This record gives sequence, C-alpha cells and structure tokens, in this order.
Amino acid sequence: MIPPRKSRTIRIRDLALGGSAPIAIQSMAATRTRDLDATLRQIRILESAGADLIRIAVDSKEDVAALAELRKQTRALLSVDLQESYRLAELVAPHVDKLRYNPGHLHHHEKHKSVQEKVAYLVGIAKLHGIALRIGINAGSIAPEYQARFGEDHVGAIVACAVDHCRMVDELGFTNYLVSIKDSDPRLVIEANTRFAEARPDVPLHLGVTEAGMPPEGILKTRIAFEQLLSRGIGDTLRVSLTLPFDEKGKEIEVGRELVADIEAGRFRSVPPNFFHGLNIISCPSCSRVENEKFIELAARVKQLTGYAKQHDLTIAIMGCRVNGPGETDDADLGLWCGPTSVNLKKGEESLGNYSYEAILPRLLAELDKLIAAEAN
Ligand code: SF4
Repeated sequence: MIPPRKSRTIRIRDLALGGSAPIAIQSMAATRTRDLDATLRQIRILESAGADLIRIAVDSKEDVAALAELRKQTRALLSVDLQESYRLAELVAPHVDKLRYNPGHLHHHEKHKSVQEKVAYLVGIAKLHGIALRIGINAGSIAPEYQARFGEDHVGAIVACAVDHCRMVDELGFTNYLVSIKDSDPRLVIEANTRFAEARPDVPLHLGVTEAGMPPEGILKTRIAFEQLLSRGIGDTLRVSLTLPFDEKGKEIEVGRELVADIEAGRFRSVPPNFFHGLNIISCPSCSRVENEKFIELAARVKQLTGYAKQHDLTIAIMGCRVNGPGETDDADLGLWCGPTSVNLKKGEESLGNYSYEAILPRLLAELDKLIAAEAN
C-alpha cells in the first residue's frame, strides 16, 4: 500500500534515504546533551530499539563539547538540531552526519544578515563536512516574513517557506538535503506535506506530528497523518514524537516501525468523524532542553485530572521548556510551559502567571472550569 516514492536519494553517511531506500525511522534524545551519561544511555536505548538516525539538540558550546565526546563513544548516525543556535553549526558539523535548521529561527541572531546569507553559511558547512541538511519547518515557529504575508493561512505560509528554502539551497548547488513540515494537528500535517510534495516531489520528506502527546492518543494522531501520506507515496523518513519517560523512548522507534508495517500491509484504521471533537491534550516529546523531568509526570497528571472535561472542544498544551513553550502554547485554550522550578500558565496568548509544579494543577483546573462554564452560557 506504499506506492513508489518520487523523491531523490540522499545520503546520511552510509544511510540512503529517499527514492527506493527503505523508510528510515528516527527519534531524538530527550536528555540534556551536556549530561553525557544520560545522553549516551538514551542513544543506546534508541539504537537497541533499531533507530536509523538519532537527533540531539545543541544550544551551547558546553553541548558541543558533550557532542564531541558522544561522537567518540557511538557509531550511531547523529543529527543535530540547531534551532536558534545556527551559528554553532561550524563547531557541531565535525561530529555529526546531518544538521537541522529551522527557517523560523534564523531571524533571532545577526539581524544585519539576510536569510540567504545565513542559508549559504549553513550549506557551506554541510558541503565542507560532507553531511546532510534538513530544512525543518514547524508551524509553531513560522518565520515572521511568511506570517506577515500569509496571516491566518498557516499551511500557505509553511509550504511557501519550505519551497523558498529549497530554492535557496538548490541555487547554492547543494542537493543532499530533505525537508520536514510539522504541526501538532495531523490534518495540517497531511495538507502541508501533500502540497509541498506536489510542488517539490524530488525533495525527500521527513514526516512527523509534533507534540502528539502521550500514548495512545499521540500514536493515533501520528497514525492518521502517516496513513494518509505514506499511502500516497509521500514520506522517506519519520519520527513518532511521544511524551514518554526517558527510559521508554525506544517506543517511538517501535511504534514507527509498526505504523510503516501496518500501512505497507494495508492495515488502516478508520477515523470516526468525531475523532477531532472533545478535549485535545497536546504535549511535546521533550528533548535536551526540557527544564525539569517532572514535566513528563505533569503531562500525565493533566491528562488524568482533566478526564471529566473530555466532551468539551478545548485544547490544553503542555511544553517542556522556555525555548519553544511560550510560542507553541499560543494557539491552545490553556497552555503550560515548564521552567526549572515553576510552570507558566497561559490562556491563549495571555499569561496567567507562574506556579510551582504542585500548585499548577488546581490552578489549571480552575481555569478549565471557567472555560467550560463560559461555553455553557
Ligand atoms: S517544547 Fe522544548 S523541551 Fe519540548 S521538545 Fe520542544 S524544545 Fe524540547
């Protein structure tokens, strides 16, 4: 049930990706990169689960030093997520097989330089070190120029941004790259990736539903997107992003393989028309930026305590850090983003203050009750 893909084949060290190569399954270390023992353990867990590629976030020179040490201790294919820290690319590149940059984060630093100059810098480094690049677009961090141009048309904005970045990279004579376009809503993931694949069928795609949350809902949301895309021949590598305890991260790989096997064999799950109705809890899969491991327990408690509201069409978002947390909770009815010792509560874009990990739960429930009462009036 997975038709031949039209994408070209790229190489990530000895891994062929795209075209007729098998669909590669990847995941990301959730531990702090500078915590060498924990990150190495995380890499081993993902390797033994059969990960083809392992992503690590690097935010500082301390993380780069840790990465250099990790490189000595593992042969796993490593990809680094640069996020805002794209200027670390030259330090990171000697130790990895792939770099991921987010076009929505290029404006934060070196404001005097154009986006084209920044992309040329990244491509130059990838060429120099013979590594691959991922243009990783996230609907939660759309580049400001596309936000201004497309307003509420998020899909239009992210697809245009992806196509433009591909053109910039092409013009620099670099082809060893792929694209990802992610969101927490599988419907948007399906639409954006389908439209991108129509525009650029030659570019390999990395699929994912970001912040899908905890199993089983997180797996279902991911399945909905992957069934629709893989069955149209769209998608060359994928990640299932789940909020899980660090020691259980291998499940992301197991679920990824299971989904591909099911789709290949035609084992589709039907989606009832009311699937998207009711309380929607989204939570990030956590990564090295997570500020406090209590985040994972908090996400589970939120799910448990809000069960009484499952009939209400409301979204609660729970994010693990201050980097992406503030932006990625904007669209939720209630948002929680976690700091080292406290949790920030938001109602839409409005901040409602910050609370200890214990005090946040009754405060969240009080706000949830207000929203439910407002719905009834
Ligand atoms: S919200 Fe923060 S901790 Fe969670 S996955 Fe994103 S960057 Fe990592």
